[in-house]
Amino acid sequence: MNIAERYPAQAAPKVGVAKITTTRQCWMQCRFCDFSQFAPLVFGADIDPCLSLSKAETQLKRLNPAVKLLKIRGGLSFREPFSYFRALVKTAAKMFSGPIQAFSPIELYQWHRIEQRPIRDLLAELRWAGATQLGPGGGESLVQPWRDRLSPNRLDAEAWLSLASLGWETGMPPSAMILAGRWLAKEDLAQHLHLLTTQSWHHLEVKIMRPVTLHPELEPIHLIALCRLVSEIKEKMPDTPLYVNDPSYPLTDDAYLLLTRAGADGFYTTLEDIEP
Ligand code: SF4
Repeated sequence: MNIAERYPAQAAPKVGVAKITTTRQCWMQCRFCDFSQFAPLVFGADIDPCLSLSKAETQLKRLNPAVKLLKIRGGLSFREPFSYFRALVKTAAKMFSGPIQAFSPIELYQWHRIEQRPIRDLLAELRWAGATQLGPGGGESLVQPWRDRLSPNRLDAEAWLSLASLGWETGMPPSAMILAGRWLAKEDLAQHLHLLTTQSWHHLEVKIMRPVTLHPELEPIHLIALCRLVSEIKEKMPDTPLYVNDPSYPLTDDAYLLLTRAGADGFYTTLEDIEP
């Protein structure tokens, strides 16, 4: 690799993202997630319905043309059947011709358990509806003790990895996630990265932690530490595209350039949020 490749003069491209969120309520109560305040745990509180297909369609009609990737995700709702989620993907695919990252092994496992249907069938139907890749949700913490601390109600890490790998068989290649936060132990991160190297991924995403109402101690990472993390990931998985999700605070042009030089292949920038 020559100097110009190693130290590019321009930052890697920003990819405009629209996020479609089915519901902002989730029963799983992961510590780092602001969806985790599940209404039914509060006596007398109602569960709101998921995003309606008509609202999604209306908002997709006027989607910002700079959007190049749709991410469909949600909290976990017991109320809507799998056919609702499949119809949402179909609606999105009708309105948007680019790549659609839809749901994750976490949702697949929930549908599998509730509807007693094989995971491969669920994946094939999402693919048929127009999804092109599986999201990284639930793969943030693959070290089991760490997972037990952050997301004690989730399926275990081994099961998550095995469900994600099924995406390759059905034209829904899986993606993986690396959390960036000051409070994460180095050893946990190293083991997480090691587990990721045991299989292939469509791409990797770095998610920068931010404080949530219940856990204000989740402090954001310093830029230099973030660059070190990006560089470490790239060293371990040089051939897998690596994207940094824009944090909730703005990054300077210099920050984008430094992260590019550290190994980022692009940046996911949220341009639109489509929510219930
Ligand atoms: S499963 Fe996903 S949406 Fe639900 S609380 Fe955990 S991170 Fe949030």
